[in-house]
Amino acid sequence: MTRMPVIFAGHGNPMNAIEDNAFTQKWEELGKKIPKPVVILAISAHWYTEGTKTSDTVEPKQIYDMYGFPKALYELKYPVKGSKAFAEQLVGLLGDEVTIDNRWGIDHGTWSVLCKMFPEADIPVVQLSVNLRAPAQKHFEIGQKLKALRDQGVLIFASGNVVHNLSLVNWNMADGYPWAQEFDDYIKNRILAHDFDGCVNYERAGACAEKAFYTPDHYYPLLYALGAVDPKDTIEVYNDKCLMGAMSMTGYYFY
Ligand code: ZN
Repeated sequence: MTRMPVIFAGHGNPMNAIEDNAFTQKWEELGKKIPKPVVILAISAHWYTEGTKTSDTVEPKQIYDMYGFPKALYELKYPVKGSKAFAEQLVGLLGDEVTIDNRWGIDHGTWSVLCKMFPEADIPVVQLSVNLRAPAQKHFEIGQKLKALRDQGVLIFASGNVVHNLSLVNWNMADGYPWAQEFDDYIKNRILAHDFDGCVNYERAGACAEKAFYTPDHYYPLLYALGAVDPKDTIEVYNDKCLMGAMSMTGYYFY
């Protein structure tokens, strides 16, 4: 079986799910380019929990975890199945680290991108939550454990935003504030240099890191992706943009 790539998506505004723009076009391109996964393991910024959780239901519900958007967004259906067999495999791999919790489902961090990347919704999706108590290094280490799944047809899909500070977002800005661009560039340069430790220890970026996010829920998914990267992988930056002042849409493709 061919080794599956690893994808990090900067998902940004949920409206991307029903819009057609430069970012969503890249998501569509990626979906066409990569081998069809057997299952997608989605690490979404929006499942930020006490402890690490996954779900073993075959009928995960679609979660519309965003407020005040147009009706069309709440009508978008991405009716994917889960996979009990894969959830069991995941629990076997991560051991005590992870517990089953079927109260959540497929949130917009996952479906707003996958509906563009795999519009047929015919690939099972299993989400893994982001443990809000774990330090950055721990998220990276879980990613390292997930790496082996790539040889079994599993697409490791992490969805968040490198820069995500809603309290500083300015909807009228086409670009990012200088500090947002500085942090996004800093992380990009660390990744391109294969310095993933520099991403785990993102505080080294200095003052810009303090504004990039106040809570790391949208940043941590990147660390799972980086943990699953192999030294032999090619690294491609497929979206590369800050917008709305305090949001980065930058995305990475490792293959
Ligand atoms: Zn989000």
